[in-house]
Amino acid sequence: MLKTVEDINVKGKKVLVRCDFNVPMDDNGNITNDNRIVGALPTIKYLVAQGAKVILCSHMGRPKGEFNMKFSLAPVAARLSDYLGQTVKMAEDVVGESAQALTAGMADGEVVLLENVRFHAEETKNVPEFSKKLADLAEIFVNDAFGTAHRAHSSTAGVADYLPAVAGYLIQKEIDIMGGALENAQRPFVAILGGAKVKDKIGVINNLLNKVDTIIIGGGMAYTFCKAMGGSIGDSLLDEERIDYAREVMALAKEKGVNLMIPTDNVAADSFSNDAAQKVCSSMEIPDGWQGLDIGPETTKAFADVIKNAKTVIWNGPMGVFEFENFAKGTIAVAEAVAEADAVTIIGGGDSAAAVTNLGFADKMTHISTGGGASLEFLEGIELPGVACLAKK
Ligand code: AMP
Repeated sequence: MLKTVEDINVKGKKVLVRCDFNVPMDDNGNITNDNRIVGALPTIKYLVAQGAKVILCSHMGRPKGEFNMKFSLAPVAARLSDYLGQTVKMAEDVVGESAQALTAGMADGEVVLLENVRFHAEETKNVPEFSKKLADLAEIFVNDAFGTAHRAHSSTAGVADYLPAVAGYLIQKEIDIMGGALENAQRPFVAILGGAKVKDKIGVINNLLNKVDTIIIGGGMAYTFCKAMGGSIGDSLLDEERIDYAREVMALAKEKGVNLMIPTDNVAADSFSNDAAQKVCSSMEIPDGWQGLDIGPETTKAFADVIKNAKTVIWNGPMGVFEFENFAKGTIAVAEAVAEADAVTIIGGGDSAAAVTNLGFADKMTHISTGGGASLEFLEGIELPGVACLAKK
């Protein structure tokens, strides 16, 4: 169990909090979605209420180690001020004169936001001198940025070499729910994997084969499995180099008694476009010139039946090209089935999180992870540097 903000005395202390304020902005610097800011509020409000001096930091975009106003966090300070009902002071730099001056004279309960940590190239290289400079601004470190916890950067992990380090509420929730599912899942435990690339999911498949009752494979990655079973997949996505791997997974699943479900039918298209001609056919007999862009009705039903009876569900990756309305049915049906399941339901970040949110199912899920890459690595069983550096109870 991780130590959290509640396990350390923060009153009157300077607390450096690594948040994920990497919010989307339009060309005029307006925040277009502030979910990440809202997500950070519980930890910040708790620290303010406890009388801590709260120093926030985050990255934003990819400024490549140089100061660039386009990637300034100033709009975030303004939005935070609105939410907190108090002024969040914006530093003009990260560890320079402005940051030092603003953090030197803080009152209890005051909040300061440092500039984008990626204005320093040292941040992503995790250079100890830079980590130390960040640490020198504060007395306690709180990591609450799950989305970057799989990266060993100065502000996500390096700084913990110099300060007592604990988890914020967001990270705690991610680890409790996902870790709980992996360690003591209620059964049946079903993992749903989709998306374009087999390569991205290898680690997850390998780890989950030892934990789940069923692995459902959909999306573009499924066709490599169909090919491995001797099917003809037309022009569907194929990862030639991983056909043998797909065969190994199928053999391993059999050996371990895991029910590995591969699509039996699909919706094929005569081109990669929403308006393409489409037809339902067996996933093992897709004609040349056609490509599978969604799971078919028989597969959808089979997947949904298993999902609805699950007690734990983890989902990462869409079942088809859901960005095309005409090929989104499978992904929508799977989202519905997950929403209906009387189960702990966990949506990995990225595309599946976006799909579930856009379809209006977000509040029906137990947990939607705030980190795409980080949640994948967590499901692979890899220890995340931004979590490993935190104190344990
Ligand atoms: P990933 O980034 O690996 O999670 O993949 C997500 C992407 O996979 C989405 O943009 C989907 O459009 C794409 N995708 C899903 N199914 C297919 C498919 N059958 N053929 C091509 N692309 C697909």
